[in-house]
Amino acid sequence: MQIKDYFFKKKLTTSFEFFPPRSQKASDNLFETIKKLVPLKPTYVSVTYGAGGTTRELTNDLVIKLHKETKLTIVPHLTCVGSTRKDMEKIITNYQDNGIQNIMVLRGDIPKNESIDLSKNDFKHAVDLVRFIKKIHPQMGIGVAGFPEGHPECTNRLLEIDYLKEKVDAGVDYICTQLFFDNKDYFDYIDRCQLAGINIPIIPGVMPITSLSNLKRMADLAQGVRFPAKLLKSVIRTSNDSQVFDVGIHWAAEQASGLLDNNVPGIHFYTLNKYESIIQICKSLGISTLDELTKEKLLSDKF
Ligand SMILES: Cc1cc2nc3c(=O)[nH]c(=O)nc-3n(C[C@H](O)[C@H](O)[C@H](O)COP(=O)(O)OP(=O)(O)OC[C@H]3O[C@@H](n4cnc5c(N)ncnc54)[C@H](O)[C@@H]3O)c2cc1C
Repeated sequence: MQIKDYFFKKKLTTSFEFFPPRSQKASDNLFETIKKLVPLKPTYVSVTYGAGGTTRELTNDLVIKLHKETKLTIVPHLTCVGSTRKDMEKIITNYQDNGIQNIMVLRGDIPKNESIDLSKNDFKHAVDLVRFIKKIHPQMGIGVAGFPEGHPECTNRLLEIDYLKEKVDAGVDYICTQLFFDNKDYFDYIDRCQLAGINIPIIPGVMPITSLSNLKRMADLAQGVRFPAKLLKSVIRTSNDSQVFDVGIHWAAEQASGLLDNNVPGIHFYTLNKYESIIQICKSLGISTLDELTKEKLLSDKF
């Protein structure tokens, strides 16, 4: 099923993001995580793609395995930096032949070292890959990335939304955002997108902080993301990682609750291949299965 069909049905989408494991132990852990999260009934799960194709086979194998062995809707990520049209066509056609109906289309980060041969680059920006997919497999559903606090490479925030509009107009079904910690940033981004005429669903990305090292890693990977002082004060008050975990869950649950109260089209959870935090967030939201999250339910006449 295409992700856009869920929006047509006015269903709130909920999704979990995983990365492909690199060892047998990590793979066992991921399948344990998936087993624990399946009862929550997410709309879809997505699988990341290592920058420059560093996990090309791992991503492909995990996507096909999950698609064949579970009833989950799988959305593979695909980055195009350093790739040729032929590379991309092979991967996309393989997904299409295996029944995958949606792809998260990204450019990927341009490596600071020379780990990727940029001379083979047929795609400058994600928009080029969106156009390419629409040409070779027009029926493929497409999601793209959005950055509520701005993408670090583009310092002109007006121009940045114009580029996003260009990407959307190339045939995108939905936008999924970079993680953020202050809902105000997301709501302001929605307003700016609407002013620019971007009217497709923009799914907020939520990632709970689960330890001090995880917080530092987030700051490193999600560059430009702001950590509100209130959040940092709560983290500073803790004395061990178990307390940081509780703070992170509390913050993410409050964020998710604030988002759901404000008519978001869905929520995307960055899981880091862990289930405990996601299950606790859902519990604190009063949710036992995510597919209960219809707009009707939010507007229920319970009271
Ligand atoms: C939800 C989500 C999932 C992600 N998954 C992955 C993943 O699986 N693997 C991975 O390696 N990375 C992933 N990333 C990170 C992403 O690849 C990087 O942030 C990358 O630097 C930007 O990718 P993009 O698709 O937004 O690129 P683009 O849309 O190409 O934008 C990149 C930069 O170029 C600018 N730009 C866009 N179009 C133009 C234009 N026409 N002219 C001039 N400038 C332009 C933009 O404003 C931006 O600053 C993900 C990010 C998010 C938010």
